[in-house]
Amino acid sequence: MPLSKFVFVTGGVASSLGKGIISASLGKLLQSRGLRVTIQKLDPYINIDPGTLNPYEHGECFVTEDGAETDLDLGHYERFLNVPTSQANNVTTGRVYQTVIERERKGDYLGKTVQVIPHITDEIKRRIKLLGETGNYDIVITEIGGTVGDIESLPYVEAVRQLKYELGANNSIVIHLTLIPYLKASGELKTKPTQNSVKMLLESGVQPDILACRTEYPLNDDIKRKIALFCNVTPESVIEALDAETIYDVPMLMKKEQLDKVVLKKLNIENYPETDLTKWEEFLYKLKNPISRTKIGLIGKYVELKDAYKSIAEAIIHAGVANQCKAEVAWIHSEDIEEMTEEEMEQTLGGLNGILVAPGFGSRGIEGKIKTIKFAREHHIPFLGICLGMQCAVIEFARHVLGWKDAHSTEFNPSSAYPVIDFMEGQSAEIKKGGTMRLGAYTCKIMEGSKAMQVYQQPIISERHRHRYEFNNDFLPDFEQHGMIATGINPEKSLVEIIEIPEHPWFVGVQFHPEYKSTVANPHPLFVGFIKAALTVKKERTKNDVKTKEDEA
Ligand code: GLN
Repeated sequence: MPLSKFVFVTGGVASSLGKGIISASLGKLLQSRGLRVTIQKLDPYINIDPGTLNPYEHGECFVTEDGAETDLDLGHYERFLNVPTSQANNVTTGRVYQTVIERERKGDYLGKTVQVIPHITDEIKRRIKLLGETGNYDIVITEIGGTVGDIESLPYVEAVRQLKYELGANNSIVIHLTLIPYLKASGELKTKPTQNSVKMLLESGVQPDILACRTEYPLNDDIKRKIALFCNVTPESVIEALDAETIYDVPMLMKKEQLDKVVLKKLNIENYPETDLTKWEEFLYKLKNPISRTKIGLIGKYVELKDAYKSIAEAIIHAGVANQCKAEVAWIHSEDIEEMTEEEMEQTLGGLNGILVAPGFGSRGIEGKIKTIKFAREHHIPFLGICLGMQCAVIEFARHVLGWKDAHSTEFNPSSAYPVIDFMEGQSAEIKKGGTMRLGAYTCKIMEGSKAMQVYQQPIISERHRHRYEFNNDFLPDFEQHGMIATGINPEKSLVEIIEIPEHPWFVGVQFHPEYKSTVANPHPLFVGFIKAALTVKKERTKNDVKTKEDEA
């Protein structure tokens, strides 16, 4: 019998209504009452994990401490709750089937016909209960990906139906997130799609306990009563989920609607303390009342889909707040830079206070990234390179400072005479793509007196990784003699984790992904330092009369 109580979150009517943010907001409210909460995402696709997915499909792949490649919603959970997630927090249909099929091959089913019900649903239920059985959580929130009615979601809804029954009254509830569209022509909010969506859930045997209704306009009592009547819930269980200015407003909106109180009542949890969201409110206040501004260029190849860089964009927001400033992001496509003249480069990049070159895979846009980094280095613009961004900084330095014209990463040119970025030990071109990179948390030792030490303020750190290539240590002496130094090293394998150019006002490249660890409660020191540099170096640049287009305007 699992120890935790369960909150299942399903979605209806349309996708992209923000189940992840609603789940994270509810989690935050319950956590702020002293309850121990974790959130889990079930994804109905057949990929084993999103690691092999193009970011254009589902946005960024979020990496956990234990090296799981997961859905980007886990990033929201961590940013809101400030508690790490793990492999157990993300389950896909692929993983469920893989386990069942492996068991079948071993003969574990003793000659039985292996079927969706009960074998697949049993495996889904087992994975849902895993976190609840650890004893670490009072409440497990389980978000079910997709939309009710999708063929792929059916086994999950069936598992929820069975679990609700097995767990018994007051031990689990279902929150169904729907949409109340607004018809401009008649000036009306329409409830029919919600009624239909609930009907569909009922056909699968699941009665939702709470309806969270996404809407552009406030829901009046009449509409709430109508929804309640048609969907067999009490009016207090109809929660208005109004469009928000920022995702960080949603916990406050849910508090106003008393979502957490209704949940606790239905789960029969009593004697809980009041919510304490003081820190969260302070963050929101600073977010909405910045005292300065700065402009950061984010150079990547998936910039059309902002979700592809979700954690980076959020880390910039957190770091902006920590510096009491609004850090605006200029999204710049690395391929666009490739064709630009000097003058166009100046126009696009010259007005930026900081340049961040994003992680990535494959050769598209690489030369644009390298060109951007040259600009940042030569114009003394604060620079942060993440993973591929750091690797490109190394290639740029090799080509333009060390004069090795042919320098490259073997990911893009396997026959380069100067393979300054190369395969790591244990990696090769033949290796299977899924789940085989250097993944998850590794330690790094930081050099005294470096920018990295300035921001982290401690000699040993741990950061998450997701890469196959690394700095080629054969060339390190050449780099260090000419002004690019390794200021962070993995102690076990001597891998270069951080590079810096001490001559530059703020030039840092990291092989790891700091963005995954930035949360509202703990903005990441590296991003905080980068934004601080963007704010201060801007002043120095103006002082030294390095004019930008913006200065001239
Ligand atoms: N493609 C590079 C590698 O595999 C960088 C990966 C990344 O930026 N996450 O090493």
